[in-house]
Amino acid sequence: MSLERRIFRISSTSIEVSALTQIVYADNAATTIMDVDAFEAMRLYLLQEYGNASQPYSFARQPKKAIQEARETVASCIGALPEEIFFTSGGTESDNWAIKGTAFRNYDHRATITSAFEHHAVLHACEAIERLGCPVVYMWPDSKGYISPEMLERYITDETLLVSVMFANNEIGSIQPIKELCDIAHAHGALFHTDAVQAVGHIDIDVNDLGVDMLSASAHKFNGAKGVGFLYIRKGTPITVYADGGAQEHGLRAGTENVAGIVSLAAALRKNVENLKANREHIMGLQKMLLDSLNESGIHYTRNGGDHTLPGIISLSFDGKDGEAILHRMDLMGICISTGSACDSKNTEISHVLQALCMPESLAKGTIRISLGKNNTEEDVNAIVEALKKILL
Ligand code: PLP
Repeated sequence: MSLERRIFRISSTSIEVSALTQIVYADNAATTIMDVDAFEAMRLYLLQEYGNASQPYSFARQPKKAIQEARETVASCIGALPEEIFFTSGGTESDNWAIKGTAFRNYDHRATITSAFEHHAVLHACEAIERLGCPVVYMWPDSKGYISPEMLERYITDETLLVSVMFANNEIGSIQPIKELCDIAHAHGALFHTDAVQAVGHIDIDVNDLGVDMLSASAHKFNGAKGVGFLYIRKGTPITVYADGGAQEHGLRAGTENVAGIVSLAAALRKNVENLKANREHIMGLQKMLLDSLNESGIHYTRNGGDHTLPGIISLSFDGKDGEAILHRMDLMGICISTGSACDSKNTEISHVLQALCMPESLAKGTIRISLGKNNTEEDVNAIVEALKKILL
């Protein structure tokens, strides 16, 4: 997306959003630009209706109502009940709560099963419970980035406490068979959590259709504000309090509510869900254009993530090339992408996701992620392809 100039009026002050008119932003899996409507929705709660939603006086009424409405909106977007939505500070907190909250509520040393290519918010939370004596089993995805139901069948027992598998991988975009995995977990009496941070707001999600007990999401991945997200917790799921100190979030997550952030989250999610099909078609069109142009260019690449990936997440490996160098050269051309490896002065560290795929080192080191969003344009795709041609041919 070439960021267009946008002027927002806040009281008497004009804020010009982004003077960076030449930037091509193709790192939407890292974060997204705020939707203007989501921004407008939060303004009222920053500058006028700033009351503490937990206070008993009438000035708290509007913020309290806004949170309730946001809860209802979010619930309706994923097929949940409003009381099953718990607002958090984002995906990391939601994942930590799901993993630790389940392990600590059921402190009987039953195992958690997860995959080796989860986001660190899940993996590090798993390491934390392991240090406290709760066993964790790590499943390895296949080389395309999928955890099969057969794989889970191999690891699960009737003693398993929780299975946590991400909805879609953030580096390669592969979408996991969540419904099937969830059915297996339930057949063995285990709970099921999915980190759906990359998927919510981008593909259709119905928690009842999937059957999941917990689902994590983050607003800044779907054009809402940063620092706000939610954890869906199915009614009756045994889980500990995440933060003690107040009655907010049904007494499970204390702290004065981030009203403006919550309002932005709901507005952004509703808009993305309402436009899901159109956004998907737009992004898939750009994705096809990018891959067709690369094929015509003579650049040799491997696309990672198999056939069932999130729209717009395009992980490409260039054998024998240096992904980090590609990133920096594209940066110099005003294009933001991401990479699957990072160098220090001596070594190249390959991301745990690419390691989990057992990718040959020469491919892993040459891996970049282009992630397109609803605001990207054909001009952006042309600029990306031209830049890759300059760098790689
Ligand atoms: N889970 C996944 C799959 C992610 O991609 C991210 C962010 O990149 C997170 C969790 C963390 O979310 P947040 O940035 O809201 O803490």
